[in-house]
Amino acid sequence: MNGVPNALVWADQAACRGQQLDDFFAEAKLRMEQAKRVCASCPVRSQCLAEAFRAEDPSARFGVYGGLTAAERRELAKRQRSSAPKAATAAPKKPRQPATCGTRPGYQKHLREGTEICGPCRQANTGADNRLRRTGTTKAAR
Ligand code: SF4
Ligand SMILES: [Zn+2]
Repeated sequence: MNGVPNALVWADQAACRGQQLDDFFAEAKLRMEQAKRVCASCPVRSQCLAEAFRAEDPSARFGVYGGLTAAERRELAKRQRSSAPKAATAAPKKPRQPATCGTRPGYQKHLREGTEICGPCRQANTGADNRLRRTGTTKAAR
């Protein structure tokens, strides 16, 4: 029915594609380092990082994305916030980036607005979910 959603094409080139993702969601530093080594050679690292920043809940970051651990992304976000120009000189607030279909934010937008979830969005969400589920947001059995 629907073609491949453009927004997700980069994910096809992910170095972690088809890999065991446990390292990406491990708590042990060594294993996270292992995951980061995969990211280091990933051709779509910047897209991945951007997508993580866009899609994840800032108060619940987890897993290695775009070569950064959750803690490192938190740090980066904090630095970016504190170095951002203050409102007085800042440009007028840009309208929120529209959530495009075929991305997880797109999926979430459907949910927020109660609109029908389209195929690309559903697919995007499943893809993201499969990775996120690895972390065991509830409780990790070990
Ligand atoms: S940068 Fe993202 S897509 Fe690339 S290997 Fe790391 S986690 Fe996977
Ligand atoms: Zn959609």
